[in-house]
Amino acid sequence: LSRELGYTEPSPPLLSVPNGRPTSVPQPPGKPSLRDFQFGSTLGEGSYSTVNNALRCLFASPVLVKLGTSRIDGKQYAIKVITKSHLIRAHKVETAAAERKALIRLHGHPGIVSLFHAFQDEWSLYFVIDLAANGEMQSLISRLGSLSTRCVQYYAAQIADAIEYMHSKGVIHRDLKPENLLLDDAFRIKITDFGTGKVLENGEKRATTFVGTAQYQAPELLELKETTTSSDYWAFGCVLYQMIAGRFAFSDRSDYLTWQKVKKVEYEFPSGFDDQAKDLVQKLLVHDPLKRLGAGPGGSSNDPSALKAHAFFSSIVWKSLWTDPAPPIE
Ligand code: ATP
Repeated sequence: LSRELGYTEPSPPLLSVPNGRPTSVPQPPGKPSLRDFQFGSTLGEGSYSTVNNALRCLFASPVLVKLGTSRIDGKQYAIKVITKSHLIRAHKVETAAAERKALIRLHGHPGIVSLFHAFQDEWSLYFVIDLAANGEMQSLISRLGSLSTRCVQYYAAQIADAIEYMHSKGVIHRDLKPENLLLDDAFRIKITDFGTGKVLENGEKRATTFVGTAQYQAPELLELKETTTSSDYWAFGCVLYQMIAGRFAFSDRSDYLTWQKVKKVEYEFPSGFDDQAKDLVQKLLVHDPLKRLGAGPGGSSNDPSALKAHAFFSSIVWKSLWTDPAPPIE
């Protein structure tokens, strides 16, 4: 299992541990381990989801995200605790391996959660990541109904910048949605949940596994069973729409019916939708992946810089995007 997950140290041997406390499992010297962190409240639960809701119920809560405070320097982190038995039972070993691999490749961008340490005991894997203290963008949208144009410009710019970086490193997220857009203590975006991410190797351009969430899945996934970096721009268009309208661009009573709308690009703007945002959404929710704004190869009139040059972002100062304070949340 250790090798499959990309860990260099072997899986610790099964020990009989008093009181079921895993802290006494030995770890390689010099490497951080469980005993270096004090665990606090639960920040969230995950499932390492599949698109299959029945499976989601069967394998409930195999992932817990806990607040962790370093006993060494007092810094706070989010620690994702993934149960190994679940990984094996749900055939999700590759999900954990993919997440770790993507996070290692993406380390260092302010808009993407950083992975600081990954270790294990005989029961679980532990990912020590940036704490995003202000929760999910989804909660913000639910609480406020929708976001002000100024807020949407700011958050959309941060998401676009992080997507551009992600793609430049050869990673497709494949499940961008407001639940996976976290907010740090300064209310800046931190993209998370790379379990369904695809790390492109050796000139690869596409992925062919069916992953993601119906409301954000792109037509090419439904029709051609493939995702490319452009599919993240489709999801970005859906998120942009949702931040402004307060509801999904594509949704119906079932995933099947939602997909029919996606395939026909059938959605409507509510009245009062900002004109420039509307133009941007229309240039992202385009059936042909090659024609989506932002999705073309570098240097083309359709590349990420063309997206950033869109009029909706005219008030954004890209150089100081990650240091400027967030606008008032409204
Ligand atoms: P899914 O069920 O969507 O597959 P998952 O199993 O991969 O999710 P995550 O999405 O990574 O799990 O985390 C579950 C929840 O925990 C998140 O939706 C969020 O509420 C919370 N969470 C995750 N990472 C962090 C973090 N870095 N800081 C604060 N809260 C976090």
